[in-house]
Amino acid sequence: MSLDNVIVIDHPVVQTKLTELRDARADHREFRTLLNEIASLMVYEVTRDWPTEEKHVLTPLERHSGKVLARKVTLVPILRAGLGMSDGVLRILPDARLGHLGVYRDEKTLEPVSYYQKLPPDIAQTEVLLIDPMLATGGSGSAAVSCLKKAGVKSMKFVCLVAAPEGIKALHAQHPEVPIYCAAIDRQLNEKGYILPGLGDAGDRIFGT
Ligand code: URA
Repeated sequence: MSLDNVIVIDHPVVQTKLTELRDARADHREFRTLLNEIASLMVYEVTRDWPTEEKHVLTPLERHSGKVLARKVTLVPILRAGLGMSDGVLRILPDARLGHLGVYRDEKTLEPVSYYQKLPPDIAQTEVLLIDPMLATGGSGSAAVSCLKKAGVKSMKFVCLVAAPEGIKALHAQHPEVPIYCAAIDRQLNEKGYILPGLGDAGDRIFGT
């Protein structure tokens, strides 16, 4: 499998928290906390190549020319599990706007069904982070990227926690230019489309359902 344009964030602190998160004994409170903490940590790597521009400020002593992000940021969680990473990303990028995409996976066909879309009107001019903890079949992710492209988005990254090889292949078959950031690439999908070893149903574990 080609790993072009796939970035695994193997930082020891991220990996420690991911291992704790995978543990079936973590309850929804612990799971939510860990997921948001990992999302915050991943932001540093995900945003590393974003353009900056000059900004002048007056320090208490003199004038200084500093750098700030050049473009606005839009965070787009794929409902519902993507919401579980939103607060963690917003902690680091508090000026980001939030769009929402509702895509669920039909449990019989495993095909994505899009049911909700609400995006900022100027999203095309912003840096977009599409977030979903699990990249499993790649169906929902690919559908979400297509929605964002239709909305005119030029610069986007897909940020997940755990990716299956099948999901990476499917997403990049349709959208090879979209970088995929994850904390781990797991072994495979099972017959129900769950990632192995994975962490179970991320939505259920976040929301306690
Ligand atoms: N979605 C999940 O929440 N978990 C999986 O393992 C696959 C898809």
